[in-house]
Amino acid sequence: MIHQAPSSEAQGSGPARLLVVGSGGREHALVWSLAREAAVEAVLVAPGSDAIGAEPKVHCFPDVSAMDPAAITELAVAERVDLVIVGPEAPLSVGVADALFAAGVPVFGPTRAAARIEWSKSFCREVAAAAGVRMALGAQFAELEPALEFARELAGAPRSNGLVVKADGLAAGKGVTVCDDFASAEAALRALFAGVTDGAAPTAPEPSQPVVVLEERLSGEEASLIAICDGRAALALPPARDHKRLRDGDAGPNTGGMGAYSPVPDLPESLCATLIDVVHLPVLAELARRGTPFRGALYAGLMLTPEGPVLIEFNARFGDPEVQALLPRLAVPLGPLLLGAAQGNLAAAVAELGLPGRVLPTTGDAAVAVVLAAGNYPETPRKGDAITGLDEAAATGARVFHAGTIRGADGQFRTNGGRVLAVVGLGSSIASARATAERAADCLRWDGMQRRHDIAQRLPGVAGRGSAGASRAPVSAADWEDPAGRTPSGPSEVAGS
Ligand code: ATP
Repeated sequence: MIHQAPSSEAQGSGPARLLVVGSGGREHALVWSLAREAAVEAVLVAPGSDAIGAEPKVHCFPDVSAMDPAAITELAVAERVDLVIVGPEAPLSVGVADALFAAGVPVFGPTRAAARIEWSKSFCREVAAAAGVRMALGAQFAELEPALEFARELAGAPRSNGLVVKADGLAAGKGVTVCDDFASAEAALRALFAGVTDGAAPTAPEPSQPVVVLEERLSGEEASLIAICDGRAALALPPARDHKRLRDGDAGPNTGGMGAYSPVPDLPESLCATLIDVVHLPVLAELARRGTPFRGALYAGLMLTPEGPVLIEFNARFGDPEVQALLPRLAVPLGPLLLGAAQGNLAAAVAELGLPGRVLPTTGDAAVAVVLAAGNYPETPRKGDAITGLDEAAATGARVFHAGTIRGADGQFRTNGGRVLAVVGLGSSIASARATAERAADCLRWDGMQRRHDIAQRLPGVAGRGSAGASRAPVSAADWEDPAGRTPSGPSEVAGS
């Protein structure tokens, strides 16, 4: 045990001893943010990383695997932590939250059954349909022939914009193919079904599950709206937008994310409150109705189409790199809110903090995160390249979060993963935040380093920006037609409580 301090229960001002599960950039940002809170005495991290362990109040347990529910639970109990926060999706999918819940340890992160909304595209569509949440026209298939028939139908529809083929199951971001026409959809479908036969397809955790989801291709700008959820109530983080493609101009392969920014000028906060009402809350209610309440971060990936926002996907955790841009913007402590959510009483935490709205208040700063990736990412990232310029980058005023680094015996950080670092700039505008992040990114070097130079450069919906064809009117609340006729509730209460 590293501290003998009593549990924070009596203090009433948030958790004092926390355990964060994970080791990447998202976890570094979470740990950094939580450790700054006055009520927090210690942040334990399993397994963590050298860089995470260098933060004040932090202690890493490198031998405790994030994928071992029993070991995580044992650590949480032995260390008498007040709250466990599970960062990545993989530990959720093996039941880390279930094990903690069964042991009576408050955990922020959904059970395996609730987290299924992320790793099963067909389950996501099923829940969204039952909840009346708008998604792209689509269907799921367990056999090739009917899938091909539907693909032909989608591709041949009047005003068809193409179609999207999605593997059903954990695919590490590689299970989605956006297709212009039937021929490319057919190739993607045949490859997927062939993979099922030879065992190379993404894991469909239950054999009876559909293999593939087919959707019409939507057009518009994407944005993410992440909410802290306690099973029925939800409180939104400010919206963010990430950049998925590897190279400038949205070229190259999809990645886990090459950068992000917040706020999102074309997704105003007033619309976020509406989105919580018509996307997150009905889905929380539907999951609760099925006996699998969702406690954790529910991430809605949205397409802001000309007809209004449409749900593309849910993730069951904080987005990375989005959260690296979001957390430095927050003007309130996260610990009490995550504990409140874990205990099924977000409303009490919101009331205690005196939060006025349905979206977490910010400092007023904008934030831009630029990701620096290893050579050969996303295929087979190079490891072990020496990183230079960390001190210079920090001196620019940007914050540097480590996603995949290791410190050698000589004290030098080296690359140890696909996405290696994210530099986050803050500023009074997105442009000034971007300038800071770019200055910091310019300081950093290693062999084979890859980065984009256009993160947050093109801002849809912002007048006078001048990028031909990109500008469109900002999406307003009026763009959202609520099929169930729900209206946003008052601004001074946590949604759904
Ligand atoms: P992530 O890594 O974001 O979790 P994922 O593998 O779970 O991704 P989705 O988010 O469903 O898959 O899709 C990945 C990307 O494919 C989306 O960010 C979007 O750019 C594109 N996409 C998915 N569905 C559609 C659609 N119906 N229309 C247009 N583009 C889509």
